[in-house]
Amino acid sequence: MNDSTDSLMVQLGTYVSDLHSERDSGNTTAVRGSTIKIFIAIEKLRKLGEPGIENAIGMALDRAHLDLDAASDYRNVCWHCYREEGTRRLVDARTEKTCPGCEWLICFHCGHCRAPEFGGCGTVL
Ligand SMILES: [Zn+2]
Ligand SMILES: [Zn+2]
Repeated sequence: MNDSTDSLMVQLGTYVSDLHSERDSGNTTAVRGSTIKIFIAIEKLRKLGEPGIENAIGMALDRAHLDLDAASDYRNVCWHCYREEGTRRLVDARTEKTCPGCEWLICFHCGHCRAPEFGGCGTVL
Protein backbone atom coordinates (compact mmCIF):
# COMPACT_ATOMS: atom_id res chain seq x y z
CA MET A 1 0.00 0.00 0.00
CA ASN A 2 1.25 3.40 -0.95
CA ASP A 3 0.79 5.98 1.77
CA SER A 4 1.41 9.05 -0.33
CA THR A 5 -0.25 12.30 0.66
CA ASP A 6 -2.60 12.02 -2.33
CA SER A 7 -3.74 8.51 -1.55
CA LEU A 8 -4.18 9.36 2.12
CA MET A 9 -6.31 12.37 1.21
CA VAL A 10 -8.47 10.11 -0.96
CA GLN A 11 -8.80 7.64 1.93
CA LEU A 12 -9.65 10.46 4.28
CA GLY A 13 -12.41 11.66 1.94
CA THR A 14 -13.83 8.13 1.80
CA TYR A 15 -13.81 7.77 5.58
CA VAL A 16 -15.55 11.12 5.99
CA SER A 17 -18.27 10.04 3.53
CA ASP A 18 -18.60 6.72 5.38
CA LEU A 19 -18.90 8.60 8.63
CA HIS A 20 -21.78 10.69 7.30
CA SER A 21 -23.75 7.70 6.09
CA GLU A 22 -23.06 5.76 9.29
CA ARG A 23 -24.27 8.69 11.35
CA ASP A 24 -27.40 8.85 9.22
CA SER A 25 -28.07 5.18 9.83
CA GLY A 26 -27.39 5.55 13.55
CA ASN A 27 -24.68 2.88 13.55
CA THR A 28 -22.59 4.07 16.48
CA THR A 29 -20.08 1.22 16.31
CA ALA A 30 -19.35 1.99 12.68
CA VAL A 31 -19.18 5.70 13.47
CA ARG A 32 -16.48 5.02 16.04
CA GLY A 33 -14.59 2.84 13.58
CA SER A 34 -14.64 5.54 10.91
CA THR A 35 -13.68 8.21 13.42
CA ILE A 36 -10.60 6.20 14.34
CA LYS A 37 -9.72 5.64 10.69
CA ILE A 38 -10.00 9.39 10.08
CA PHE A 39 -7.65 10.21 12.94
CA ILE A 40 -5.16 7.55 11.87
CA ALA A 41 -5.14 8.93 8.32
CA ILE A 42 -4.61 12.42 9.75
CA GLU A 43 -1.71 11.24 11.84
CA LYS A 44 -0.07 9.67 8.78
CA LEU A 45 -0.63 12.86 6.77
CA ARG A 46 1.01 14.93 9.49
CA LYS A 47 4.01 12.61 9.46
CA LEU A 48 4.42 13.13 5.72
CA GLY A 49 4.19 16.84 6.50
CA GLU A 50 3.58 18.30 3.06
CA PRO A 51 3.18 22.08 2.98
CA GLY A 52 -0.43 23.12 3.41
CA ILE A 53 -1.46 19.80 4.90
CA GLU A 54 -2.86 21.40 8.05
CA ASN A 55 -5.30 23.33 5.89
CA ALA A 56 -6.38 20.19 4.10
CA ILE A 57 -6.77 18.38 7.42
CA GLY A 58 -8.77 21.28 8.84
CA MET A 59 -11.13 21.19 5.89
CA ALA A 60 -11.60 17.44 6.20
CA LEU A 61 -12.35 17.78 9.91
CA ASP A 62 -14.85 20.56 9.18
CA ARG A 63 -16.55 18.41 6.59
CA ALA A 64 -16.69 15.53 9.05
CA HIS A 65 -17.95 17.84 11.79
CA LEU A 66 -15.28 16.41 14.01
CA ASP A 67 -14.07 18.45 16.91
CA LEU A 68 -14.11 17.95 20.63
CA ASP A 69 -17.26 15.87 20.35
CA ALA A 70 -15.36 13.47 18.19
CA ALA A 71 -12.59 13.35 20.73
CA SER A 72 -15.01 12.19 23.38
CA ASP A 73 -16.26 9.52 21.00
CA TYR A 74 -12.77 8.62 19.90
CA ARG A 75 -11.51 8.08 23.42
CA ASN A 76 -14.02 5.30 23.92
CA VAL A 77 -11.92 3.00 21.83
CA CYS A 78 -8.21 2.50 22.50
CA TRP A 79 -6.51 4.06 19.49
CA HIS A 80 -3.24 2.32 20.34
CA CYS A 81 -4.65 -1.21 20.48
CA TYR A 82 -6.51 -0.50 17.27
CA ARG A 83 -3.36 0.60 15.52
CA GLU A 84 -1.16 -2.17 16.87
CA GLU A 85 -3.58 -5.08 16.66
CA GLY A 86 -6.56 -3.89 14.67
CA THR A 87 -8.63 -4.59 17.78
CA ARG A 88 -11.35 -2.16 18.78
CA ARG A 89 -10.84 -2.34 22.50
CA LEU A 90 -13.43 -0.30 24.34
CA VAL A 91 -12.20 1.70 27.27
CA ASP A 92 -15.00 2.24 29.71
CA ALA A 93 -15.25 5.04 32.24
CA ARG A 94 -16.76 2.59 34.74
CA THR A 95 -13.79 0.21 34.74
CA GLU A 96 -10.80 2.14 33.42
CA LYS A 97 -8.79 4.72 35.28
CA THR A 98 -8.58 8.30 34.08
CA CYS A 99 -5.09 9.62 33.44
CA PRO A 100 -4.25 12.45 35.83
CA GLY A 101 -2.21 14.17 33.11
CA CYS A 102 -4.58 14.28 30.16
CA GLU A 103 -7.90 13.09 31.61
CA TRP A 104 -8.35 10.45 28.96
CA LEU A 105 -9.12 6.93 30.07
CA ILE A 106 -6.11 4.68 30.39
CA CYS A 107 -6.41 1.47 28.39
CA PHE A 108 -6.21 -1.48 30.74
CA HIS A 109 -4.55 -3.58 28.06
CA CYS A 110 -1.75 -1.33 26.76
CA GLY A 111 -1.64 1.57 29.24
CA HIS A 112 -2.03 4.33 26.66
CA CYS A 113 -4.20 7.37 27.24
CA ARG A 114 -4.49 10.45 25.04
CA ALA A 115 -3.83 9.91 21.36
CA PRO A 116 -0.99 11.80 19.67
CA GLU A 117 -3.46 13.63 17.37
CA PHE A 118 -4.79 15.28 20.50
CA GLY A 119 -1.38 16.15 21.81
CA GLY A 120 -0.51 12.81 23.39
CA CYS A 121 0.43 12.62 27.04
CA GLY A 122 3.72 12.78 28.82
CA THR A 123 2.46 11.55 32.18
CA VAL A 124 2.37 7.75 32.03
CA LEU A 125 2.93 5.12 29.43
ZN1 LIG B 1 -2.44 10.76 29.97
ZN1 LIG C 1 -4.91 -0.15 24.45
